[in-house]
Amino acid sequence: MKPCKLGGLLHWLKGPSMACGHTVLMRLVASAYAVAQKAGMIVRRVIAEGDLGIVEKTCATDLQTKADRLVQMSICSSLARKFPKLTIIGEEDLPAEEVDQELIEDGQWEEILKQPCPSQYSAIKEEDLVVWVDPLDGTKEYTEGLLDNVTVLIGIAYEGKAIAGVINQPYYNYQAGPDAVLGRTIWGVLGLGAFGFQLKEVPAGKHIITTTRSHSNQLVMDCVTAMNPDDVLRVGGAGNKIIQLIEGKASAYVFASPGCKKWDTCAPEVILHAVGGKLTDIHGNALQYNKEVKHMNSAGVLATLRNYDYYASRVPQSVKNALVP
Ligand code: AMP
Ligand code: MG
Ligand code: MG
Repeated sequence: MKPCKLGGLLHWLKGPSMACGHTVLMRLVASAYAVAQKAGMIVRRVIAEGDLGIVEKTCATDLQTKADRLVQMSICSSLARKFPKLTIIGEEDLPAEEVDQELIEDGQWEEILKQPCPSQYSAIKEEDLVVWVDPLDGTKEYTEGLLDNVTVLIGIAYEGKAIAGVINQPYYNYQAGPDAVLGRTIWGVLGLGAFGFQLKEVPAGKHIITTTRSHSNQLVMDCVTAMNPDDVLRVGGAGNKIIQLIEGKASAYVFASPGCKKWDTCAPEVILHAVGGKLTDIHGNALQYNKEVKHMNSAGVLATLRNYDYYASRVPQSVKNALVP
């Protein structure tokens, strides 16, 4: 925890959003980073303890585990304690109950506080921010042991736009041998950049599509086929698929179906946009993240690091007609 030295003076010099010399946004991102790291530890601990506590939500491919529940409690309570005026929207419907102190993370990642806040965000107030939390993205794959598909997503929105995000991948490196460091955290702020990975592109001219493995249907398949892909990767998780785009494993994330929600896309969208990529619905509309917005991304997802127009131009009209925003 950074000591609040000179707090009074800086408050006077820079206004109320700069408590401790840092803006609300950068303090929130620094806290979200620490909170996401703890989340990753909880995700690993639940597997290690061996009882996933699986519950079916709407159907057999829409699951919740003990990790989804504990992580959401951890993230939401930790952030709400430090930033009581935030609006926090988490995926899971959980009963309001006292959260175990052991789940609370109070730290912040000091490296983030060393970075400058983009000037357009320096006056943001806590009450103006909306945080979208997917405590465990790729739950179906988590229950099947496809552990590197899993991510923890904390997205931050201002005036309806996704502006900052943190992604923890708890099992990054888990197949790399016993000496490999397990897990990583990627973060980004629009206007500042994205960090925690090596940016890489798919070789020019190759069209590698990444799409769902657990939530496919005819529309999804029609849209993927229309892209004339060289290869199709079917993997779990929205966070995981955006990581494939920024690490040069896939050139487009195509999901022509409802099912994906605002907590799935908020943090990944920021990371992609911060490095020059683009995420929209299947019609090309930007996604909105204000607190009143419908949770479902009803018109699907189309995301690329480069060559967005190539993929957008190949979405069949029949697919567009079937997906109403
Ligand atoms: P997937 O690519 O299938 O891993 O989906 C990305 C995210 O959207 C995950 O959080 C899924 O749980 C969610 N999702 C996509 N389609 C559906 C669906 N039909 N029902 C429930 N969740 C879905
Ligand atoms: Mg999800
Ligand atoms: Mg989830």
